[in-house]
Amino acid sequence: MAVTVLIQLAYPKALSYFIDNINVRKDMAWFSSLALTMLAVLALQAVAATARYYIFESTGYMIVTRIRRQLYAALIEQPIRFYDKHHVGELNNRLTADVEILHDTLTMGMAVSLRCLCVFIGGVVMLLTISPVLSLMLVIFLPATLFIGKMTGKVYRKRASLMQDGQAECGKVAQEHFSNIRLVHAFSQQRTARARYAGATEHALSLSVSSSALFALFRGGSSFLVYLALLGTLWFGARLIGQGQMTVGDLTAFILYASMVTEAAGAIGEFWNAWMRTIGATEWIFKVINTERAQEAPAGEAGLQGRLAFEDVAFAYPERPDAPALNKIDFSIAAGDTIALVGASGAGKSTIASLILGFYRPDSGRILFDGVDAAAMPLAAIRSKLAIVEQEPSLFSGSIFENIAFAVAEREVTLDEVKAAAALAYAHDFISAFPDGYDTVVGERGAQLSGGQKQRIAIARALLRDPRILILDEATSALDSASELQVQRALDTLMQGRTTIIIAHRFSTIVKADRILVLEQGRLAQHGTHAQLVAQQEGLYFHLMRHQLARAAAPAAA
Ligand code: ADP
Repeated sequence: MAVTVLIQLAYPKALSYFIDNINVRKDMAWFSSLALTMLAVLALQAVAATARYYIFESTGYMIVTRIRRQLYAALIEQPIRFYDKHHVGELNNRLTADVEILHDTLTMGMAVSLRCLCVFIGGVVMLLTISPVLSLMLVIFLPATLFIGKMTGKVYRKRASLMQDGQAECGKVAQEHFSNIRLVHAFSQQRTARARYAGATEHALSLSVSSSALFALFRGGSSFLVYLALLGTLWFGARLIGQGQMTVGDLTAFILYASMVTEAAGAIGEFWNAWMRTIGATEWIFKVINTERAQEAPAGEAGLQGRLAFEDVAFAYPERPDAPALNKIDFSIAAGDTIALVGASGAGKSTIASLILGFYRPDSGRILFDGVDAAAMPLAAIRSKLAIVEQEPSLFSGSIFENIAFAVAEREVTLDEVKAAAALAYAHDFISAFPDGYDTVVGERGAQLSGGQKQRIAIARALLRDPRILILDEATSALDSASELQVQRALDTLMQGRTTIIIAHRFSTIVKADRILVLEQGRLAQHGTHAQLVAQQEGLYFHLMRHQLARAAAPAAA
């Protein structure tokens, strides 16, 4: 950059020298040597410009990649409550579009403005050496250009943040419809989808358009000032030439330097705006990157036995602080026992599971593992002894091996370990039957596997983790009876010797549990064994189970 700037600053001087000598020296040799020098200088400038472009551009990419990685790392560490607030589509958009803006500013913007700053300073020095008096002309209006630039920059910054929010909103709408595309088609909701997207983009568009108006005004205003200054300089310069205080070459060079300086000042002002816009647009990114993250102690061996207790636990989701999801929940489970959580949808079953997993902290009361308050234990230590099998198991788009090995984060897992876990989960046979065996790649969201197969992979994953406490979210949709049997056998293996909390829907599961907790609107309505609860014919359990009980009783009566 230094080289290109120096050459740029030398041009007007060279031209002035040329103009003032053209009538004095008339020999060709002088012209030829001047032309050759210019050619060499031009070549040098080309090389320097290439290097400058490459260095700025590639550095920009490196910085952006690094920021993107930092943002991703910060996002993935955010507590679950963060994800209650921010939609996946929005986050994706932030990760791509918001970070991209930084690239433009950091490469072209930064390169241009740094160069302009050097040109500006060099140009001012040249102006002063040519004619200090004439330079006074510029002193009057240059600050005006800079001032306008600064003011617009301020407004721009606020705008940019709003514009980015608008873009993120568009991303959210699109993502939502893409990920539910089957539902959208099945209910013929394409038109609504279009309308919602159009609505979101409309808002973003109006923000952008009004920002363009502001920008256009700034451009027009500063260009007017530039030409006004040029006119003034010519007028004043002509008088100086008349008085013999300046040559024609000097005035030419002066005007060229003046236009360089004003152009540079304008570009700096423009960059200032771009910079403000970037700061506005990336405010969110840096806020997330800089959020304090809980310093987790390394997992270590918690050595949990598997005893678990809730002591008067109350909890409301941060998003809905005045609707308590759990109210004074009090129970304890001995190590190795199985409890079933029963209750209508929305009663608080999943919330209990989320609290055990440490996704949220109770608002009041305590959760105890082996009699120790969870708040006093490192989260990672507790989680290392927990495993979860979800209702609709989620699989990543890698191989089956990777999906099972996902259970263990802290070390490499061997194929034998994965096979052993799969065998215990009754999954080994069907996996080996695939042509690629454990390397079979699972489609997006595990689309190529049946429901029962996915569940057995999820069970193998939990088995590999070898947890002390197991959380099962029982699938509500029934599998065909053959797969059902296999999944049930796999689950039985998994539950053996482990404390198990089941969000239960099936009668057969509920009956087998050592204890049943019946939840009603966040409260513990009843608890006890199946036999105890069935005896209370006025109770909620009896009411919830009536149909199932009737069905179960019919063959017995017969
Ligand atoms: P269940 O699992 O028994 O169906 P949940 O534990 O999911 O019930 O929900 C209990 C209550 O908490 C419900 O009123 C539900 O609407 C609310 N809830 C669940 N998840 C969230 C969340 N992420 N943010 C806000 N409210 C939630």
